[in-house]
Amino acid sequence: MDHFLYRDGALYAEDVPISEIAAAVGTPFYVYSTATLLRHFQLFDDALDGTDHLVCYAMKAASNQAILKTLAQAGAGMDVVSGGEYMRAKAAGVPGDKIVFSGVGKTADEICTALTGGIRQFNVESEPEMEVINAVALELGVVAPITVRVNPDVDAKTHAKIATGKSENKFGIPIARASEVYAHAASLPGLEVIGIDVHIGSQLTELEPFELAYNKVAELTERLRAEGHNIRRLDLGGGLGIPYARSNDAPPLPVEYGAMIKKTLGHLGCEIEIEPGRLIAGNAGLMVSKVIYVKSGEDRDFLILDGAMNDLIRPAMYEAYHDIIAVQEPAPGVEQQPYDIVGPVCESGDTFAKQRNMPPLVPGDLVAFRSAGAYGAVMSSEYNTRPLIPEVLVHGDQFAVIRERPTFDEMINRDTIPEWL
Ligand SMILES: *Cc1c(COP(=O)(O)O)cnc(C)c1O
Repeated sequence: MDHFLYRDGALYAEDVPISEIAAAVGTPFYVYSTATLLRHFQLFDDALDGTDHLVCYAMKAASNQAILKTLAQAGAGMDVVSGGEYMRAKAAGVPGDKIVFSGVGKTADEICTALTGGIRQFNVESEPEMEVINAVALELGVVAPITVRVNPDVDAKTHAKIATGKSENKFGIPIARASEVYAHAASLPGLEVIGIDVHIGSQLTELEPFELAYNKVAELTERLRAEGHNIRRLDLGGGLGIPYARSNDAPPLPVEYGAMIKKTLGHLGCEIEIEPGRLIAGNAGLMVSKVIYVKSGEDRDFLILDGAMNDLIRPAMYEAYHDIIAVQEPAPGVEQQPYDIVGPVCESGDTFAKQRNMPPLVPGDLVAFRSAGAYGAVMSSEYNTRPLIPEVLVHGDQFAVIRERPTFDEMINRDTIPEWL
């Protein structure tokens, strides 16, 4: 459920007409709904009700500070995967003790930043990284709380580019080596081993892979405790999928996911962390774009939009499907027609949808890409010297630009010409 609905034939974000935002900021742009963000966070928080837990929003999904602040004020922690994300979370007012640091390649500088500013825990992904965290912590005279990310070797049954829990993936340490790695961690005086971390992938549409992984984590918890480690926190990662196509079967609900967590791990008495990103932000955002041309090709018609692959790369990168709807609601019974929906970038990959049925559209009409809130704005680029598009946050009947569109001068003046030219 989201808060992007038609009212009297016009698409709204909460109580604001999309066309009003378009008139104010120009197209294309991203728009997020505060109510939807909060509702999705609350679903996870409620799903773990009765267990000691923290929902750490995986901010790489959508990292604007206004979004972070909205969620943090509701009680969310943050999962960060870079020093930049750590600083962004701090800038949005998230306290260090609610920030967990994930990622396979944390540098000594990033580790130092987090240890200095305060950190809930590092999710360690390798022994060399463990050694570096230990060394930095000793240098700073602090002790770094860590979990070790284990790779449970389960098939997440998702797109290959976002599966992370098979043995061939670069993430975590093989679960079979856990005893050895935990013993090593326990021997390092700059580290305090507090738990186990696992994250098997993104856009999972079934509970079964999670359950397989979490059962392995339960077993490992008992084994590591028997070996003398004080395992008291389990970070279970993110990855619960969202319905991109309204017609498809819906993925499991957060409440079902929470019930499964309690069933598989509840008896261990550990504090539970989860790191959802996509499910919180995905359906809380639209990308709104304008039709520039309707072009009749030899065997098909093209809708050429002012939005492109640099603004929303998911279709090009992951073969992702997005519902694309007209901002002006089509009259009931209006005949739809198939279009290839494309952007202006000079690549055939700049195709959002092929032979998609749409109501008749003319230049100047607005369309909205649904489910674009996660892995949308954060993955955008300035390819083709196209400005990063603005982000807008709606709250009831108010809206605010939360990232401005840069001017061409700002973009172009970032280059510097060497003096020999
Ligand atoms: C990407 C990522 C997440 C979030 O995944 P979603 O599918 O967006 O929920 C959580 N944890 C880690 C370690 C990640 O890399």
